[in-house]
Amino acid sequence: MAGKDIIFENVKKSYEDKTTVIENLNLTIKEGERLVLLGPSGCGKSTTLRMIAGLEDVTEGKLIMDGKVVNDIPSGKRGVSMVFQNYALYPHMTVEKNITYALSVHKVDKNDIKERLEQVLEILGLKEYAGRKPKELSGGQRQRVALARALVKRSDYLLLDEPLSNLDAKLRLKARKELVKIHELYGQTFIYVTHDQVEAMTVANRIALMKDGVLQMLDTPYRVYHRPANVFTATFIGSPSMNIIEAEWGGGERLMVGDQCLKLPQMWKEIVEKHGRTKLYLGIRPENLKLCPGHNSEGLNAEVEYVEDYGNRYGIYIKLGELELISMADSVFAGRGEKVHFVPDYDHIHLFDRENTNSLGYPAELEEGKEESNSFMQAILNESPKQED
Ligand code: ADP
Repeated sequence: MAGKDIIFENVKKSYEDKTTVIENLNLTIKEGERLVLLGPSGCGKSTTLRMIAGLEDVTEGKLIMDGKVVNDIPSGKRGVSMVFQNYALYPHMTVEKNITYALSVHKVDKNDIKERLEQVLEILGLKEYAGRKPKELSGGQRQRVALARALVKRSDYLLLDEPLSNLDAKLRLKARKELVKIHELYGQTFIYVTHDQVEAMTVANRIALMKDGVLQMLDTPYRVYHRPANVFTATFIGSPSMNIIEAEWGGGERLMVGDQCLKLPQMWKEIVEKHGRTKLYLGIRPENLKLCPGHNSEGLNAEVEYVEDYGNRYGIYIKLGELELISMADSVFAGRGEKVHFVPDYDHIHLFDRENTNSLGYPAELEEGKEESNSFMQAILNESPKQED
């Protein structure tokens, strides 16, 4: 444990009306990392961030920062600065004044202020706007001033709550890259709240995925995408979502999907046997579901329902019994109503326990020699044309 780690120990948060928003949170945010709190709206991300900021009390448990329990330490003494979605700049002050105001109030040395100001203006490309008032700036520029204002404080922890959501898609993409660059320069601990999975995947060193106040998975973007801990994680990350297919282990190598049968390879057979559950979900990402023409007893037989043209790829919706699945493909060979089949690529399947929805784990063979690369990121960024809406 490093001194400046942030540690949630059995933290519970209830609001006055007694609704419990965070249940027993155990989470260590490592000093200097970019941790993204991700999850659907209302899952407790902002509440978690606001507890770190000292803007919300901790109802039960301990919150530790800088080696101390900070439950009763006021916000101003925690070494945090924050950037909110609805940042408020002082309208009557210039960009320069907006950025340096808090430093002057805290009587930081004038030369130091000047040096810090110049650095952030340079990094954020705001030099030529230093003398302007907020109303003379675009949304993106105002956002950068808010970020600059937080950065000049050089606090240990930078807390960002949906900081880019007011920007248009193109600017957001640029700002994401800038944020990562800034982090590499300053090395502060970044805690970043978003509901946007692409933003999370591209900004995070690690993602903490939450649902209904419960942490679902805490890991690198690579592992969250490729080794999801449960069905919620598997389907929340990636667009279109992972196909989730009800399956039943029939003993040995037989995996039944409805009345069709797949032959599990040895490595997966061992995983299923170790687990001993029969009611499962088979997960296959759309880009790993490769369709072949006609029906075939080797794989799962289906019919094409309809095809979406995304310009650079096709989304092919198929019907497997009552279930609708989607395959992402570079080309289309079959139209509506035509017969197709697929044999799962067993290096890229996922198995979950249908009862508790947790992953059964992955064969050791698939983990060996796997470098955590960013190449999968391209797949995520290319996935859906709707991503940047
Ligand atoms: P997120 O940031 O993930 O969208 P929040 O942390 O803002 O979620 O909110 C989590 C839950 O807590 C929501 O259901 C919200 O309605 C509730 N909540 C937030 N603030 C308060 C409050 N002051 N009083 C009561 N409930 C609140």
